[in-house]
Amino acid sequence: MRRRIVAGNWKMYTDLASATSLAEMIREGFNQSSSVDVLLCPPTPFLLPVGERLEGSGIALGAQNLYYKKEGAFTGEIAPQMLRSVGCTYAIVGHSERRTIFGESDYDVKMKVNAAIDHKLRPIICVGETEGEREEEMTYKVLNRQIREAFDGIFKEEATSCVVAYEPVWAIGTGKTATPEIAQEAHRFIRELLVSKYDQVTADNISILYGGSVKPTNAQELFAQPDIDGGLIGGASLSSQDFLTIIDAA
Ligand code: PEP
Repeated sequence: MRRRIVAGNWKMYTDLASATSLAEMIREGFNQSSSVDVLLCPPTPFLLPVGERLEGSGIALGAQNLYYKKEGAFTGEIAPQMLRSVGCTYAIVGHSERRTIFGESDYDVKMKVNAAIDHKLRPIICVGETEGEREEEMTYKVLNRQIREAFDGIFKEEATSCVVAYEPVWAIGTGKTATPEIAQEAHRFIRELLVSKYDQVTADNISILYGGSVKPTNAQELFAQPDIDGGLIGGASLSSQDFLTIIDAA
């Protein structure tokens, strides 16, 4: 059965000293016998020192992005095996900030998901509609396209190493959270898409996280929904206390 997962996305925040001390504080407060899978995604330059602080803690390391080529003249990009070599086991793919600010397309996301799987990195595939798309009742059309593209070329046996994060763009970093009912409806829809692409057993084994202004105050009711299997946490993951409370809620 699918696992509960809480992932911290530190985005472009912290410096070397604050990243390592944040990792140490989270490590100290984390209960190793927790049934929740926890991972931290620090900025790329801090992957190695944060990974060192997490060794033996049961907390995994994730990248915020990757490129899909193995190597080459791609200035500024990071290959999947480079991430593996510094201890990453997860990589966020297609975060809405990458899609909207850096013009990442569904094709890029699909290539990155495939590259991640080929290199034994678990992709956390971000999908979600913008405010305008929700107002125009396009939410399900958008989710359908994003999920179909992201899982293109992924075999059933590989699909369960993928994690999906439903992140309505209007809720990310805005303080606006989807109600548990709205989030559950979208998660249910995503699960059904996965059933139709694969089968019920496979879909039931894929964790679907919610992301978008999750805080200690709203985590519990979101995570109580049957198809919400944890969270991708941005702002609140920069506070060890808030992040640990959110892990407890999961
Ligand atoms: C995110 O970074 O994916 C995110 C959900 O951010 P926040 O929790 O700050 O809305």
